[in-house]
Amino acid sequence: MKIALIAHDKKKTDLVQFVLAYKPIFEDHELFATGTTGLRVQEASGLNVHRFQSGPLGGDQEIGALIAKNDMDLVIFFRDPLTAQPHEPDITALIRLCDVYSIPLATNMGTAEILVRGLERGDLHWREVIENEE
Ligand code: PGA
Repeated sequence: MKIALIAHDKKKTDLVQFVLAYKPIFEDHELFATGTTGLRVQEASGLNVHRFQSGPLGGDQEIGALIAKNDMDLVIFFRDPLTAQPHEPDITALIRLCDVYSIPLATNMGTAEILVRGLERGDLHWREVIENEE
C-alpha cells in the first residue's frame, strides 16, 4: 500500500514517534511524505521515504495529485489545529480529495492508530481490488 505522511511543525515529533512505534508495519509499505516530515521520518527510522516538496511549497498538492489518480491508499496527516498555516487552502484541498476518493485519512494520532492496526489486519485490501479493476 502507498501511505502518505504529513505533519505540521508542532506535530512532527509525534509523527516520528508514531512511525517508530509501528515501524514493523510501515516497513512493509511504500512511504511518501512532504519534504521536512519525510526527512525527519527517514533520519529517525531508516525507512525509505519518497519525499515531495515541503507542504507550504506544494507538497500537499503533490500528494493530492496522487490521490486524484487513485494512486495513494492511506493518508496520515498530523495537523496542528492551533497554529495558522500559510498553505491552509492546500490542506483543505488535500482533505477534500481524500473525501472525494474515499481515501482513509487520519488527522490525529488516535485515528492513525486505528488505521494502521486495520492496515496490518488487512482491512484495506479493498484498495487493491479497486486498483486491479482500473
Ligand atoms: P513539511 O510540510 O513536511 O515539509 O513541513 C508539511 C506541512 O507543513 O504541510
